[in-house]
Amino acid sequence: MHEYAIAYDVYATAKRAAEENAATEVIRVHVEIGDLAMANPEQVEFLFVVIAEDDPLFRGAALECHRVPVRSRCGCGYEGDERFVCPRCGSLPELVAGREIRVSSVEIEVPGS
Ligand SMILES: [Zn+2]
Repeated sequence: MHEYAIAYDVYATAKRAAEENAATEVIRVHVEIGDLAMANPEQVEFLFVVIAEDDPLFRGAALECHRVPVRSRCGCGYEGDERFVCPRCGSLPELVAGREIRVSSVEIEVPGS
């Protein structure tokens, strides 16, 4: 149930953002999912709806997942999408993107807007 935990986390993050800004409604939540995060975006979206269903703040909320491609960088100066072996020097490159799952923005309705 990896996706359930992710969806719940996204919901909790969005709810906190909504409450901090005194929102009356959450409209849309944008989530970045790295290609290496091993999460199925459709499933995260589905579970998000299930979790948020009983929360009036989220009555009309939609979840939008954005894929983040793998990016790596090596000490020799290589930058690209190789994950395990640097094509230039053969060492292990450092992953700079592709593993993350994070809420990038939350669109909300605030009173008086
Ligand atoms: Zn290298």
